[in-house]
Amino acid sequence: MTHVVVVGSGGREHVLAHVLARSAEEVVTPGNPGIPGSVATPPEELDADLFVVGPEAPLVDGLADRLRASGRRVFGPGADGAELEGSKAWMKQVLVDAGVPTAAHGTFTEVEPALAFLDTMAGLYVVKTDGLAAGKGVVVTESLADARDAVRSYLSGEAFGDAGRTVVIEEGLTGPELSILAVCDGQRAVALAPAQDFKRVGDGDAGPNTGGMGAYSPVPAVTPDVVAHVMGAAVEPTLAALRAKGIDYRGVLYAGLMLTPDGPKVLEYNVRFGDPETQVVLPRLTSDLVELLGAAADGALGADPTFDDGAAVTVVCASEGYPASPRTGDPIEGLDAAAAVDGVTVFCAGVGRDDAGRLVTAGGRVLNVTGQGPDLAEARRRAYEAVAHLSWPGLHHRTDIAATPT
Ligand code: AMP
Repeated sequence: MTHVVVVGSGGREHVLAHVLARSAEEVVTPGNPGIPGSVATPPEELDADLFVVGPEAPLVDGLADRLRASGRRVFGPGADGAELEGSKAWMKQVLVDAGVPTAAHGTFTEVEPALAFLDTMAGLYVVKTDGLAAGKGVVVTESLADARDAVRSYLSGEAFGDAGRTVVIEEGLTGPELSILAVCDGQRAVALAPAQDFKRVGDGDAGPNTGGMGAYSPVPAVTPDVVAHVMGAAVEPTLAALRAKGIDYRGVLYAGLMLTPDGPKVLEYNVRFGDPETQVVLPRLTSDLVELLGAAADGALGADPTFDDGAAVTVVCASEGYPASPRTGDPIEGLDAAAAVDGVTVFCAGVGRDDAGRLVTAGGRVLNVTGQGPDLAEARRRAYEAVAHLSWPGLHHRTDIAATPT
């Protein structure tokens, strides 16, 4: 039996472990009390046939490099490739070098030139922190005053510390958004099944942005032709540009795109599996995940991954106060009943254990309830049937995930 170590502690790592378990034995570090096989031992002290690093922060921090340096087989880019997510300014430069369509932009460390650049733009202003800001460092606004305020609070370090001391200002793009996740082996990239996520906290896309409140797969509008176009116009040239810089990128390249009237343009790259998109993509995989990630780690991807003809829908159950100030420590009720619903798997994200041994909320996004079925309507019905069994004080979730698939 192959032994795999999954690094991370959220719903993404739970689904990775769950699908890897079809053909491997795995541990998750640090995991959480709701993820079977969670261990406190740091990854550097574990041995396995394959290491899969889930979140961006340890990748940007060079965990994959350290593991490779000690002879381990690793799925996940080194710190050099992870800069795609660690620095938006660097990512934009890679895109420009690679000829990948993206929003026009400028990069600034001083207030006055940044404000002058804003004055040359019209309509929709976009201001981003260069560094990691937990998905919160992006302002998209029609108000020049608000854009100017963002520039000042980012560059001063007030809003996001050092992550904001360099800002990227972009032209505002419009159109539907789309994410494509590709598995890369340094040379080649293969696409995973498309998924659509929901960023806003409330139904009908109301309220503030979150890490993601739900997702579904497949996405009817994202035909194989659209995927092939994005792979050819964005992912493959990016991988080639990285290779030209001497970067051997072995991991997930997750392209966030906008389908503009001038064609698809890349908004950003992430260097890891999306959360919660992974919770609907991987359960549909019919080929072997251990083999896929192992081959990518070896620089030797084989056949394209395959997915079932059915559908998956995941609904995020969040804690009181998420996203502004999530409350933790509320006992989670109904987990077994939810997991017993036909076609449903519950993935534990922000889950802890209290002194009495009960599972309690330990973060903003607590559970990801994934329903699978022959089509999106049935997958969605099952997911929501399971969600109805769950409760804790202040639990909230969207009711419109996959209600009107695009
Ligand atoms: P990012 O973290 O760069 O993907 O930005 C987060 C979100 O901000 C995206 O998912 C878009 O909804 C929005 N966004 C980012 N860049 C732009 C842009 N140039 N024009 C319009 N919206 C954008």
